[in-house]
Amino acid sequence: MLKEALLWERYMGTTVSCLLCMRKCIIDDGHAGWCQTRLNQNGVLYALTYGRVAAMSVSAIEKKPLYHFFPGSLWLSLGSIGCNFRCRGCQSWDLSHCDVKKSLGKTNYLSPEMVVKKAKQNGCKGIAFTYNEPTMWFEYTLDVFKLAKEAGMSTCYVTNGFMSPAALEMISPYLDGFCLDVKGAFMESCTRLADISDINIIFSNGSDAKRRHAMHVEVVTNIVPGYNSNEKEAKEIAVWIFAELGKDTPWHLTRFFPYGELKEVPPTSIGLLENLRKMGMKEGLYYVYIGNVPGHLAAYTYCQGCKKAIVKRKEYDEIDDRLVEGHCPYCNALIFGRFSF
Ligand code: SF4
Repeated sequence: MLKEALLWERYMGTTVSCLLCMRKCIIDDGHAGWCQTRLNQNGVLYALTYGRVAAMSVSAIEKKPLYHFFPGSLWLSLGSIGCNFRCRGCQSWDLSHCDVKKSLGKTNYLSPEMVVKKAKQNGCKGIAFTYNEPTMWFEYTLDVFKLAKEAGMSTCYVTNGFMSPAALEMISPYLDGFCLDVKGAFMESCTRLADISDINIIFSNGSDAKRRHAMHVEVVTNIVPGYNSNEKEAKEIAVWIFAELGKDTPWHLTRFFPYGELKEVPPTSIGLLENLRKMGMKEGLYYVYIGNVPGHLAAYTYCQGCKKAIVKRKEYDEIDDRLVEGHCPYCNALIFGRFSF
């Protein structure tokens, strides 16, 4: 049975307007929106992928990546199909850019109750929506999170931040962690990388998630050589984090590997990531990480006070966490994040 979507309105006759994300699709009867996950049938908008699980795993929160959000905890992670971006080097291309209608048969339906049950059975701290953009099955994530909260669990989105402010407002009472993918600071590179029509909303949603809705926010930027890899662009992101989210907001600079339509682009050099990390810290950020480089010491958390390593990460599931109730064990400085279980 089709599930009626939330956040839409009648536009004219049987044409509707989808209000879920900032693509703001106007959808004629019998057609789907840009992301293919919303279908107009006889003037009513339906969420095609409600409950349609395409990927699921139990994994460490560090994999999102979120490093200051219950370090070392296990999360039930789920993804579906469809996306409202078209990232040329997307590592989840098969899920995000398949033909949604045709691929529904390859997914499995899982009720919100079953998701919470599975999370509990697997000893998970919480439930994360990841793999594809979580807002693509917004109604389902909302229903799952409501039950998760009743069961005392935590929740998280790994998101491109392109939802409408109304969607963010609606999910906010049930959403704790917001891992925000900021692809760049300039329209040109974001359009080239992901066909994004408006980047300001990503910044304002990040800001609102933290300031208005009190979510735990961490920012991720995948540095793609020749696209968003210049220092000027990275510096804009660092300045925004400092000013809008706070100097203690973690920023993850991740290494790009050739994939999809960007398979001719070389992997990001580690030296470049190190330089950008230095720049971010010079701009005043406390915690700038390098990701996708196994064994790199910039995956550790260093105390902003005494500079000692306080959380060591060798692999995602190999964590040496020395924090004492959220404080540095050496100088007692308060470390930003949510730490107690
Ligand atoms: S959620 Fe999909 S249908 Fe709705 S506005 Fe965004 S891209 Fe369009």
